[in-house]
Amino acid sequence: MRIGTSMALVQLQHVCFSPLARAVRPRALSVFPSRNFSIASPTRASQAESQHVLLGMSEPELQQLAHDFDQEKYRGKQLHHLIYKRKVKEIQDFSHLPQAFRNDLEEAGWRVGRSPIYGTATAADGTIKLLIKLEDNRLIETVGIPVKDDKGSVRLTACVSSQVGCPLRCSFCATGKGGFSRNLKRHEIVEQVLAIEDVFKDRVTNVVFMGMGEPMLNLKSVLEAHQCLNKDVQIGQRMITISTVGVPNTIRKLASHKLQSTLAVSLHAPNQKLREAIVPSAKSYPLDAIMKDCKDYFLETGRRVSFEYALLAGVNDTTAQAVELADLLHEWGRGYHVNLIPFNPIDGSEYKRPHKKAVMAFAAALESRKITVSVRQTRGLDASAACGQLRNKFQKSPLLADSDNLEPQLDVAAAC
Ligand code: SF4
Repeated sequence: MRIGTSMALVQLQHVCFSPLARAVRPRALSVFPSRNFSIASPTRASQAESQHVLLGMSEPELQQLAHDFDQEKYRGKQLHHLIYKRKVKEIQDFSHLPQAFRNDLEEAGWRVGRSPIYGTATAADGTIKLLIKLEDNRLIETVGIPVKDDKGSVRLTACVSSQVGCPLRCSFCATGKGGFSRNLKRHEIVEQVLAIEDVFKDRVTNVVFMGMGEPMLNLKSVLEAHQCLNKDVQIGQRMITISTVGVPNTIRKLASHKLQSTLAVSLHAPNQKLREAIVPSAKSYPLDAIMKDCKDYFLETGRRVSFEYALLAGVNDTTAQAVELADLLHEWGRGYHVNLIPFNPIDGSEYKRPHKKAVMAFAAALESRKITVSVRQTRGLDASAACGQLRNKFQKSPLLADSDNLEPQLDVAAAC
């Protein structure tokens, strides 16, 4: 058994534990927003969303933009360098470019698309959570997680949000309890990674879509951001993980793009009845259907699916449930990986953290049935600033306009 190894250290989302969790939450049959999931291929110039925002644009698009402003095409290459390598945040600071071009861009309504950091929370182990204030004054969380591997080199993982809030309301999740505002746009996802690089003064090596929100409910922007992070920010596809609690018809759509990225599915239960109690949205997506889609994802992409399993004491942590989980996985394929996440209780939570012995027994039961397992180590921010809690603390609704004048006021700098 690999305890606390690489995968285990980067899982933040879909384990974002709510302080006021409920094991059973009565819901309507379908909890998914009625949204048209038209998932375009992630071509770069996506009209309204990225209009007038430079961040997220590819080098050819920036060359075309330069051309449209009667500039030589190499100015587009310079723009690309300034945005993604130099990470310049304001057009007027594009010192390589002629002043007239900078003025023209601004007068035409263009902006870089970077947002201010509203505050940070730093843990003793080096994990840093950022609150980013978006253009409409909404706050999102993103987390930077430095991890030293066995050879001593440091990997920096960015755990990024895909939505402002989340509509799915998993029973243990603070983000779900905080409500849902809107989907993030492509550049609002990409800028989280650049913000982490700014704060850590280092390159991000891994990205996990495990921050606020359900990525599959915003798949178009997630795919566009994925492409930008891969091609422009230059993070390998294999270093990117997209997680989901399961949204009907989206795993197949993701598979059709044949990304070389990991799909992480949050199961949290070995059977449908218990899963519905922990993840109310599971009512709309039976376990058999999600497992079939995972199998097809592997067949289509050749990429192993990772299953997240939050261990909740007395709810889903018995060895009998581990055996049931192993049987479920064997029924649907081979080579699956399970990432166990012992619940980290916070004030007001109805869930409890399982005893270490129970965690070890659960993992051993899976391993003895040839399921590879990792157990997530607790990171410093888990205890007091789990996903969504920090944002909920500061924002129940969009910030007031005059909040621009507020100083960052986080008081969780010693969150661990
Ligand atoms: S899907 Fe939404 S509610 Fe569920 S764990 Fe993820 S962010 Fe929280």
